[in-house]
Amino acid sequence: MSGKITLPHKCPKCGVVAKTEQELDKIFGYRTKDGGVTNQSQCKKCR
Ligand SMILES: [Zn+2]
Repeated sequence: MSGKITLPHKCPKCGVVAKTEQELDKIFGYRTKDGGVTNQSQCKKCR
């Protein structure tokens, strides 16, 4: 669940795909926290 990013990551709603961590940050946004990173399942537009 949290603490891990899998790439490529695809938005289940609109199908946009992030292939790099930069794209993930730009399209989905992610948070870094102690011990790991959390990515959002849906992109910024769908949330
Ligand atoms: Zn989306």
